[in-house]
Amino acid sequence: MRATKLFWNTLRQAPAGVDLPGQQLLLRAGLLRSPAPTVWTLLPLGQQGWERLLACTAQVAQDAGAQPVAFPWARPPESESGRGARWRCGEPAGWAAWDLASRELRSYRQLPQLWYAVQPHLFAHVNTRAGLLGSALSRRLELFGLYASLEEALAGQEALAEAYGALWSRLGLPLAAVAAGPRDAVAWLWEHPDGETAFFRCARCGYAGLPAATEAPPPPADASPMLPMEEVETPDCTTIAALAEYLGISPAQTMKVVFYTVEQEDQVVCAVIRGDLNIDEQKLARALGNKPFRLSTDSEVRWVGSVPGYGSPIGLKRVQVLADPSVMAARNLVAGANKEPFHIRNVNAGRDFSVHQVVDLRAARAGDPCPGCGEPLEEAHGFALGEVAVQTAEEVGISDAHYLDQAGQSQPLVMLSMVFDLDRIWVTLAEVHRDENGLRWPAPVAPVQVHLVAIKLDVPGVAQMAERVYERLRQAGLCVLFDDRDERPGVAFKDADLLGAPLRLTVSPRALEAGGIEAKWRTAAESEVVAEEALASLIAPLLS
Ligand SMILES: [Zn+2]
Repeated sequence: MRATKLFWNTLRQAPAGVDLPGQQLLLRAGLLRSPAPTVWTLLPLGQQGWERLLACTAQVAQDAGAQPVAFPWARPPESESGRGARWRCGEPAGWAAWDLASRELRSYRQLPQLWYAVQPHLFAHVNTRAGLLGSALSRRLELFGLYASLEEALAGQEALAEAYGALWSRLGLPLAAVAAGPRDAVAWLWEHPDGETAFFRCARCGYAGLPAATEAPPPPADASPMLPMEEVETPDCTTIAALAEYLGISPAQTMKVVFYTVEQEDQVVCAVIRGDLNIDEQKLARALGNKPFRLSTDSEVRWVGSVPGYGSPIGLKRVQVLADPSVMAARNLVAGANKEPFHIRNVNAGRDFSVHQVVDLRAARAGDPCPGCGEPLEEAHGFALGEVAVQTAEEVGISDAHYLDQAGQSQPLVMLSMVFDLDRIWVTLAEVHRDENGLRWPAPVAPVQVHLVAIKLDVPGVAQMAERVYERLRQAGLCVLFDDRDERPGVAFKDADLLGAPLRLTVSPRALEAGGIEAKWRTAAESEVVAEEALASLIAPLLS
């Protein structure tokens, strides 16, 4: 590329409204523009760098045996007749991958299968403080693996997680691998205080986990005798705080009751936890088999025999009770009386109401003991850049995804799904690799690997040498930007630092006089003059 032919404008200052320093540099270096708040256009050099990142991530997938496909990026309405039915855009392509798998994969001989695709994604939330890292739009590498058994899928997950971990190390990307769910599911986060994803970590043993993946400590068992239930009038006590204050007790002596409705089944669920704790709705989602649910309406709460603000699981109809272990271990809690304005003292799970499922629902919090070693956990935040998980067809509600094993028996397929947010990873690279003068790209993903500057092209010998070097670098397969503009050296060097190619080569009358070409690595303090013949060994590190 010649700078005189390239659509490339650098800026002295970043536009207002972008706070993260790496993104300011992406804008100033002419890689990125923002046509409207929270959305972004990648300019030619930006897109070139992004494509090199895509190539690196796709190569890891291909090395693992994955084949490229393209899944639909929108899903048509389920029924054509439905009024107001809309296409759903930018969802993960898992539904299409499952559809393909259940129709086409019939025999163990076809397994495993690994497919990858670059898919646009639409996030539900925008984090305006984080610029491109908080944008609702992103392009993602989605990878789906179909396996004959859980064991094989988990082995595949481990191998892929290791291969991508090696790529992040090679790119100098400090991503935390954080426990994200059952079966060693992992999320990759870039730790940052503005990140929208909270996680917990242990300074002693290195444990890191998303809140929903962080198991609650076993609650202390209370051995007190169960006392008889006793109704008590509690006006205006519709919150735990108001109730505890009114009765002069601690919130830990109360029971928190939340009603949810599982929509596709019209099932009301009564979730109970000790009053000082909170329910983690992702843990609840897992307990409900990942079926969509929402808070119950007041009329649904009344339909099962309760009243809003004074609920308890005692004597309800048509309801499924999910209890956190904290409720099972406690004795003589205060719970709602299912009528206004009354509560009941000395409520005990098992004796006073039956529980359909005891399951960890507790939202983890800083200071909880580490699941690994017991040390108090710290809370941290980060940007989620990727994740991997393994699920069976049954867990995602698909009944017909089966294959025939060697013995001719029908067996369920197991899917690994992995996703990397390429836009966010690309921006994170800019945040991580920079200094006060500009970007400092790692060679494998640098938009430009060699920035060739020619000074005083009209001086005899300069243009000829610059053209020769340009040609040799291109023939070596490097991405070269040849700055052939008629700029002062100071301007050209500033732009080169801003853009951040790993190597800058300068052809100038002074360098020619000194016997060759001036070479400066972006991460080095000093430049050196190398002879033209030494060019091949100079650029060798960029080609490996
Ligand atoms: Zn620990």
